Amino acid sequence: MSEAEAKQIERMKSLLASQKSAFRAERHRPIDKRKADLDRLADLCRKNADAIADAISQDFGNRARQESVIAELAFVIQDAGHAKKHLGKWMKTRKVGVPLTLAPGSASIRREPKGVVGIVSPWNYPFQLAMAPLVAALAAGCRVMIKPSEYTPATGEIMKSLLAEAFEEDHVTVITGGPAVGEAFTKLKFDHLFYTGSTQVGRLVAMAAADNLVPVTLELGGKSPAIVTPSYPQDAAAKSIGWGKFFNAGQTCVAPDYVLAPNGSEKSLGEAIIKVAQHQFDDSATDDAYTAIVSDRHYERLNGMIEEARTGGAEILQPKHDAEAARAGRKIPPTVVINPPADSRLMTEEIFGPVLPIIGYSELDAATDHVADRDHPLALYVYSTDKTEAERVLDNTMSGGAGVNINLLHLSVPDLPFGGVGASGQGSYHGEHGFLTFTHERSVFRTGKWHPSRLLAPPYGKMYETVAK
Ligand code: NAD
Repeated sequence: MSEAEAKQIERMKSLLASQKSAFRAERHRPIDKRKADLDRLADLCRKNADAIADAISQDFGNRARQESVIAELAFVIQDAGHAKKHLGKWMKTRKVGVPLTLAPGSASIRREPKGVVGIVSPWNYPFQLAMAPLVAALAAGCRVMIKPSEYTPATGEIMKSLLAEAFEEDHVTVITGGPAVGEAFTKLKFDHLFYTGSTQVGRLVAMAAADNLVPVTLELGGKSPAIVTPSYPQDAAAKSIGWGKFFNAGQTCVAPDYVLAPNGSEKSLGEAIIKVAQHQFDDSATDDAYTAIVSDRHYERLNGMIEEARTGGAEILQPKHDAEAARAGRKIPPTVVINPPADSRLMTEEIFGPVLPIIGYSELDAATDHVADRDHPLALYVYSTDKTEAERVLDNTMSGGAGVNINLLHLSVPDLPFGGVGASGQGSYHGEHGFLTFTHERSVFRTGKWHPSRLLAPPYGKMYETVAK
């Protein structure tokens, strides 16, 4: 561990202490202040949109500006606006009924902020995946410490300085550093820990949280399949899948990881997807609208996966591109791999890049079995014009979320909980679900001075005999 990292670790311990005492001084942040917090966050995005998009692009080598505007800035601005609009309703104490045997009395659920929460974010949408949980935590009235990914240091630094201008340090703060800092961060005794990243590290985070009995949300990854049925027009499926897969060069947790297509249609679907990519990008190697791979390590890994499939006899499809410029710009052109070997890394690991295997299936049940035999993915997509068929796919599989005839965009519907299940994660957020993630629902039962429950104490009278009837 470097000296700077050791210092960061000391700093975060004292920040946690000061956030905890600030929280105790204001346990129930009033609604007006929470709304102002959300406004400040949205303003910060609006006023610094160019600088934030530049920082993200610097981190990636090239990040399509339009992608940063849509998926990072606009997303957070809308999310904050939605939370502000519904906050009054979300914060309200809920009354619940009281059974006759417990009457008279009133029961209610108070929605209280959990306290000081930690957010660990990944590099693929380095701004949004730190800020969307922040929106939820601010709406819930919490204090927040954020640990962004070390792979996107420029974005980490700009978040740190902009949030320091907009919020007191004992309200919202950013801690930068690598895995050692991340590890120490997840060992802090937060009131909730919110982690987005790989399933591997997620397991370590869950163990660190368990040590302190800190409640934890895990937003992890996995292999999200797209099932194309014969009923769905191939070109329309190709358009949708090509868009979702090549957005951010496939570095999206809910991107279609691989496609299951009816036997015999794999190649024509693959060619249609490559045609879509050709239409979207002049030459992916030189077009700024196509995002680069975040690091040399990730670039080498993806190339290694393609080569392994090629050696294993799979056919590789790519649009025309300038191979030298692609290498220099750390870009992997949109790539389709037809029927890679089942034991290849393309079929056993989350790909997280613009490489799309298409494998054939005989019957729809074989396709759903393929999915059901593996870890539950973060998302599943089905393309079908037949409602019963789509329903059958949903019935026979499980995934964090799902899209019918569409991909990615279920996560933009603010009232849908966003999260995984099993190996793809636990817990969820967005909209009210995010507010609830950082909220403790506290049960309160009130009675007056006199209540018949007193008759349930010794010395027992006749009352207890009626209780079980
Ligand atoms: P990662 O797990 O390598 O890193 C995520 C964060 O964890 C970083 O901030 C990192 O510094 C920190 N970290 C690393 N080692 C740590 C440790 N030992 N203890 C604590 N923290 C540690 O993930 P990544 O490569 O940045 O992101 C890619 C993965 O994230 C993919 O699997 C993707 O599917 C997943 N992801 C999921 C979602 C979702 O919403 N479910 C969104 C985006 C990405």
